[in-house]
Amino acid sequence: IAELVAVGTEILLGNIVNTNSAYLSEKCAQLGLSVYYESVVGDNRDRMKAVIASALDRSDVVILSGGLGPTEDDLTKEVCAEVMGLPLSEDPHSRKRIERYMKEYKKNHPDRRVTSNNYKQAQVPEGAIVLDNHNGTAPGLILEENGKRMILLPGPPNELHPLFEQQVKPYLQKLSPEIFYSRTVKLCGIGESKAAAMIQDMIDAQTNPTIAPYAKTGEVHLRVTARAKDEQEGKKLVKPVIRELKKRFGEMVYTTKEERTLEEAVVKLLKKNKMSITCAESCTGGLLAGRIVNVAGASSVFQTGYVTYANQAKRRLLGVKKSTLREFGAVSTQTAKEMASGALAAAKADVAVSITGIAGPDGGTARKPVGLVYIGCSVQGHTIAQEYRFSGNREKIRDNAVSAALTLTRRCILENCSKKE
Ligand code: ATP
Repeated sequence: IAELVAVGTEILLGNIVNTNSAYLSEKCAQLGLSVYYESVVGDNRDRMKAVIASALDRSDVVILSGGLGPTEDDLTKEVCAEVMGLPLSEDPHSRKRIERYMKEYKKNHPDRRVTSNNYKQAQVPEGAIVLDNHNGTAPGLILEENGKRMILLPGPPNELHPLFEQQVKPYLQKLSPEIFYSRTVKLCGIGESKAAAMIQDMIDAQTNPTIAPYAKTGEVHLRVTARAKDEQEGKKLVKPVIRELKKRFGEMVYTTKEERTLEEAVVKLLKKNKMSITCAESCTGGLLAGRIVNVAGASSVFQTGYVTYANQAKRRLLGVKKSTLREFGAVSTQTAKEMASGALAAAKADVAVSITGIAGPDGGTARKPVGLVYIGCSVQGHTIAQEYRFSGNREKIRDNAVSAALTLTRRCILENCSKKE
């Protein structure tokens, strides 16, 4: 049983979001550790002591984040040592590392003063396992006493994540008799309830592994989790389930890789087919281009995008006909198609995607309500447009439109081009 404690008054004030606990919860679940409690406590010695003492009382491993810095209100280490009854002393190895870090820092910032309180971070509780922090000065610490364990990690996520991955995870893996091995099957172009209905028999019959569907914006993720003695056994248990899910959902499966996003799948598909893409956006105002450019290496498939919010811009940059706009309106199948084919020609790209819709909150009518979006796609001389009706606020409608555009693009490429995923 693991328990999480995030330390920092700024979390209680709402100044920062406690992403560390979300990250650590997920990691603990993957390692087969049960997390029953998570708490946040401010930089106050007495309250911190009370929280840590009760966490240690009811859980086997307490993972703390934050409060390891050099200032007076960074108290985590001192309080943990006190609760476990361990005296503090300087760790020569950590002292050396901090000196080296400071020297480097001084070289890059000659105008700044290095304060001696940084060396407070080299003080460690007796018997602690010291985890070298390669991205900051405060080392992580593992304290063990009477079968209980406390793991202290620095607050900044760019320090905490690598420390956890490289040093804490292997430590925890050794403690646990079994692991959870997970894979995710990511689907696009289908809603959560339909996806769940298609695998209801599998969900009803499941014991190990289990399948859990999660709805994401415009996507559904099916997480397959096996309880196993090691990774190898986990892989073996999960494999036939993944195969069956792929069979049932076919081309709706855009990846089974944990880190891969929908935009990455689209960029990869374009690269495979040696194609370039452009987009013409109205209500999403560049969000689609932003998602594509999120992908490292997108420059090999994406050179130009158009944000054509006004009718005049749609005419001038994309050649949408005045008569089309007059007869059918800017939010219509016809305009979406002309935006896509116009962008394709203007950018000299192989694929063009267009988005035009009413994101709200104003601008809707009975015939064209808020949430009505048309998405066009032009590939290999075929131009299509589809109508969508999204619900929610402006942000949600725009996000959904971008996901739907990526899904439609992927489908059009798969239907019209030779190289598949
Ligand atoms: P430092 O040595 O940088 O002072 P620290 O271990 O003392 O590290 P804190 O001072 O508590 O950590 O937090 C430093 C920064 O780390 C915060 O300003 C915040 O940006 C980030 N941080 C701290 N706790 C969390 C958390 N629970 N979730 C997300 N970010 C956090």
